Amino acid sequence: MALGGHGQGKVAAGQLILVVEDDPGIADVLRLYLERDGFQVEHVGDGGKALDVIRSRQPDAVILDVGLPGMDGTTVCRTLRNEDNWTPILFCTARDDEVDRVLGLELGGDDYITKPFSPREVVARVRVALRHASLPAVGENLHLGELHLDLSARRLFVGNHQIDLTATEFDLLAHLMAHPGRVISRDQLLLEVWGYASAISTRTVDVHVAQVRNKLQEASPIRTVRGVGYAVDEPPS
Ligand code: CA
Repeated sequence: MALGGHGQGKVAAGQLILVVEDDPGIADVLRLYLERDGFQVEHVGDGGKALDVIRSRQPDAVILDVGLPGMDGTTVCRTLRNEDNWTPILFCTARDDEVDRVLGLELGGDDYITKPFSPREVVARVRVALRHASLPAVGENLHLGELHLDLSARRLFVGNHQIDLTATEFDLLAHLMAHPGRVISRDQLLLEVWGYASAISTRTVDVHVAQVRNKLQEASPIRTVRGVGYAVDEPPS
């Protein structure tokens, strides 16, 4: 199944990206690269303004610095998710030790990149995040035990109870559930779900699996295959 295929989708005309960054030099470079790629760009320098703009302008994706004056990036993200706002968020972190916090359980970021970053890489990640958020209905709905993935509505149910997943978490679980019994390596998941062909850190996969497990608790079907990757198994019939 072509869930999370890795074609480079064309940018819809005028897709709006909000850059939340208190370093004007970094913001200018990001704006330059994003605009050159056909995106519209808004820039704000603090978390409070970011919330205002996200609520009023509804950008297609947000590049969110973690270290901001006033309200920091993680608080911005948590506030949005609590409002049921699932705008794709790409975190920018200055330090490796912020990564766990950024992708931390229940925070709901879609991806992260550490500074110093290449602006090209940021634009590529934005495209991936947008693609996740706009995947059309693919294939049939997926069932596994009491889990039900509604692919067109992009909703997950455990029994009758709906569980909120980020777009990336949804695609990861959908990809695993579409291949029951198959062990999928971290590299494969990175390629098939995230669209990264390059050998980047595979912690992204592990952290997102941890997030899905945390949300599903004992209903999580994901099994770790030590040293290889992840799988979901058909429930015993
Ligand atoms: Ca900063």
